[in-house]
Amino acid sequence: RAKDEGGGDHCKFEPTLHAEAEERRKLESALRFATAKDELLLNFQPVVDANSEQVVSFEALVRWQSEEHGFVRPDKFIPLAEDTRLIVPIGEWVLREACRQAVLWPDPIKVAVNVSGEQLLEPGFASCVVRALSDSGLPAQRLEVEVTESIFVRDAQIARQALEEVMALGCSIALDDFGTGYSSLGYLRALRFSTIKVDRSFVQGAAQKSPESLAIINAVVAMAKSLDMTTTAEGVEDAQQAAMIRDMGCTKIQGFYFGRPMPAAEAAVIAERSKTGRVAA
Ligand code: C2E
Ligand code: MG
Ligand code: MG
Ligand code: MG
Repeated sequence: RAKDEGGGDHCKFEPTLHAEAEERRKLESALRFATAKDELLLNFQPVVDANSEQVVSFEALVRWQSEEHGFVRPDKFIPLAEDTRLIVPIGEWVLREACRQAVLWPDPIKVAVNVSGEQLLEPGFASCVVRALSDSGLPAQRLEVEVTESIFVRDAQIARQALEEVMALGCSIALDDFGTGYSSLGYLRALRFSTIKVDRSFVQGAAQKSPESLAIINAVVAMAKSLDMTTTAEGVEDAQQAAMIRDMGCTKIQGFYFGRPMPAAEAAVIAERSKTGRVAA
């Protein structure tokens, strides 16, 4: 009824909104069957030690090759999966598949798995991790769980408890995209993260000599060191950026310069090769 009253603007925008909602609904119903239809796969991106440039871990990044929608980017379907709770079964598949691949790599190379708040807050998240580890045979020490600051916004107490359970198994935890969310330093005091991942936006800013970005990276590195945590710089794209980041004291580097996200078979080759030397270009 509101739209009948005086609203030229409403009429103009409504068809677009409608089409968007319809598109979303279609995407959702396709996503519901993506796991069963075997449309999901994992890519793995190397993370290297800033000094030796040897691979220390790979981050598992999910991909969706949809029959109806073609290749859908995670930035598009992960938020949808979170809103619809489909992230719970999808996340479980990611965890199991990541462990299954990582067990093929030489020890001690780790796999890092992104875990959404919805998934972490689900009762039995830790048992899901236990099953993924025991079914694959991957030692807990070789699994890292990545979470973002956003998990502490809704139910900090439960999130913290779930992460403590995961750590008690022997897994490590990393704080992803640091500095982009509702940063509060309280949880850095409460939880022993092994790694703080400095968001790509700061790395790109520093590469353009932004004094703010440089100051923030320096501060995060110093804070991490005194908390006995390591740092990973995300989104390092060339040799100059890698050198800058290393000189700033970041422990690890991830980015296109050292390797794009790649299929499991390629990651296995690089993992094997990294035993004997560095992987970089
Ligand atoms: P993220 O966890 O911060 O992952 C890093 C993203 O940065 C990846 O995007 C990666 O491809 C991209 N990236 C890495 N190096 C560079 C670089 O040098 N330059 C640029 N421009 N980009 C770089 P991707 O794979 O599109 O994933 C986007 C986000 O989707 C991830 O951000 C993560 O938040 C989410 N995601 C991906 N896989 C999963 C998953 O299995 N579960 C959950 N819950 N979220 C996931
Ligand atoms: Mg991540
Ligand atoms: Mg990140
Ligand atoms: Mg990100």
